[in-house]
Amino acid sequence: MNKMLIFAAPSGSGKTTIVRHLLSVFPQLSFSVSAATRERRAHEVHGRDYYFISQEEFRQRIDNKEFAEWEEVYPGQFYGTLHSELERLWSEGKDIIFDIDVYGAVRLKKKYPEQALTVFVKPPSRDVLVERLKGRGTESEETFRKRIVKAEEELAFENKFDVVLVNDVLEAAFARAEEIARSFLSEQ
Ligand code: ADP
Ligand code: 5GP
Repeated sequence: MNKMLIFAAPSGSGKTTIVRHLLSVFPQLSFSVSAATRERRAHEVHGRDYYFISQEEFRQRIDNKEFAEWEEVYPGQFYGTLHSELERLWSEGKDIIFDIDVYGAVRLKKKYPEQALTVFVKPPSRDVLVERLKGRGTESEETFRKRIVKAEEELAFENKFDVVLVNDVLEAAFARAEEIARSFLSEQ
């Protein structure tokens, strides 16, 4: 059975960094590319980081029931996992790694209880989270504020996850993430 390794966390916790690391260590893992309506960041590539689509197209795809899960993660910004993406990766025999928000993670786990593991990436403190988000330098004043509001909400979700991974010293978090992935992917 193909596995689903689902990472979620408040924005700025470091889940993208950890997911990228796992992708470089475990060749059987592939990244689930989500559809999203936000602006593409300079270094991002359509089809690799996200399928960047308009809000109109996103709504059309909701109506066509094309999503395994979707969420209005920030007001006016939609993100979702397409059934076609899961099928594409499963047809290649891959295990799938996800970087999605906490609601999407809980929803996917409910839908695929046998094959999914949910991992909550937790910053060592709220202050560190704010500093990392600032340090990344990707947000305008307005989107930064939206992300902090959402992060406060997401921090309360820890107990709904199978595993909590504290991301304090990055090397230690990488090692723990590898342990979690190795053990989960080798289960029958
Ligand atoms: P997320 O995907 O959860 O929003 P990112 O992976 O983009 O978070 O990380 C947010 C910022 O914090 C990035 O600039 C990243 O390089 C940095 N970062 C991630 N983990 C650590 C860590 N353990 N220590 C210091 N900085 C980190
Ligand atoms: P970002 O804009 O920083 O790339 O992502 C914002 C948030 O949306 C992150 O918490 C990210 O994990 C989440 N996200 C990305 N793709 C999906 C998805 O397909 N579904 C859901 N529910 N959330 C997603």
